[in-house]
Amino acid sequence: FVNSIEEFFSFCKENEVKFVDFRFTDLKGTWHHVTYNFKAINSDLLANGMPFDGSSIDAWQPIHKSDMILKPDVPTAFLDPFTADSTIIVICDVYDIYENKMYEKCPRSIAKKAVEHLAEANIGDVAYFGPENEFFIFDDVKIIDSVNESYFRVDCEDGEWNDAKNYEGGNIGHRARLKGGYFPVAPIDNGVDIRAEMMHVLEQVGLEVVLGHHEVAQGQHEIGIVFGDLIEASDNVQKLKYVIKMVAHLNGKSATFMPKPLYGDNGSGMHVHQSIWKNGKNLFYKQGEYGNLSDVARWYIGGIFKHARALAAFTNPSTNSYKRLIPGFEAPSILTYSSQNRSASCRIPYGAGEKSTRVEMRFPDSTACPYLAFSAMLMAGLDGIKNQYEPIGPMDDDLYELTLDEIRERDIPQMPHTLRGSLEALIRDNEFLKPVFTKKMIDTYQHYKFSTQVWPYEARPTPFEF
Ligand code: GLU
Ligand code: MG
Ligand code: MG
Repeated sequence: FVNSIEEFFSFCKENEVKFVDFRFTDLKGTWHHVTYNFKAINSDLLANGMPFDGSSIDAWQPIHKSDMILKPDVPTAFLDPFTADSTIIVICDVYDIYENKMYEKCPRSIAKKAVEHLAEANIGDVAYFGPENEFFIFDDVKIIDSVNESYFRVDCEDGEWNDAKNYEGGNIGHRARLKGGYFPVAPIDNGVDIRAEMMHVLEQVGLEVVLGHHEVAQGQHEIGIVFGDLIEASDNVQKLKYVIKMVAHLNGKSATFMPKPLYGDNGSGMHVHQSIWKNGKNLFYKQGEYGNLSDVARWYIGGIFKHARALAAFTNPSTNSYKRLIPGFEAPSILTYSSQNRSASCRIPYGAGEKSTRVEMRFPDSTACPYLAFSAMLMAGLDGIKNQYEPIGPMDDDLYELTLDEIRERDIPQMPHTLRGSLEALIRDNEFLKPVFTKKMIDTYQHYKFSTQVWPYEARPTPFEF
């Protein structure tokens, strides 16, 4: 790992690097890349960036203003563990060539602005994010079958899922039952070796791996890594998805971070642990209060809840996201907080001390672009601190037991139920994002999501309707 352009070149020579792979993230959170011959790279190029065609990236530049610049962030360089030739990956920011500044629709540049905003807001000097990206591993040949099977799993009676069928068909001995994956040992856990391989490679690309385990659903897994600041944590999500998908692929399988691939079993979240620090002190900690939470922490939650419907456009940005946010599967729909309670949108991990007190937002999922989702949550949380918004709670009961009438009576806000709902909320509620997200970015984003996801999805009949 390198700190300067000089170190970059000596590192490349030591490792006989043949190619330099420049990567950036689009509005969906997808990583794109262009590969340069190492011989064609020099210090000027690394310092000033490389031109590329921005008109071919969804919702970015029009064809008549297509030139953009990729600005490498050299200290992010790491060796690609999957290429045949020695290749070094460098994560980049996208610059507007006409204005020579960070591009307003580049998620990583937006994240950098959010970090600057935190400093200017004079509340804390660093915000930490600890994402937990759950995922499924499917056999390549069987993924289509499992998807179709899930369409047919609508024949449940009285809310009891018919779990006689197994998604993979055939001999169902030693297979996890519905919601039965957490977490018996092998042979029911059939992911021990593939997760170990993933954990090794994640360490190679610079992530600190803590644990890996089977998750609750059939074929569902989780690998826990150490938290980081906003940019590190977002870069790490991009690396983690790349490694997990590649290791699965090289084993003849497909890994997916889709929030709800299987009807009737748990979905995959991206819970995000968060805290703000100042001068080495955790501002979220106050001993003796509920969950050892300070006022600042509670107001941060209050801000996130106040703007949660709009935030969901970034934290839960796919039509599939909302199939996960229903009662009964450890994913939240109700906007309240609780220590321990996994049915609340925000959990305060129990018994955390001064260093580890944090809030765990449980509604986000991995279809989120991490740079946009973490930045938007930070902006909402800071708005909460400035305005001292109080969240509803704490509520320590099983919230899945609440009836709709009780939810209404107690006036408990809920997450939106559709992507349309969250995008409409974003149109109404976006002032809190303005210091960091430009109006053009927000307009483009919501229009892009409506036209590529909401409208095409709403227009299609589904097997259930047949
Ligand atoms: N898979 C659950 C979700 O959709 C979370 C399970 C857990 O608490 O780790 O958020
Ligand atoms: Mg989990
Ligand atoms: Mg969690």
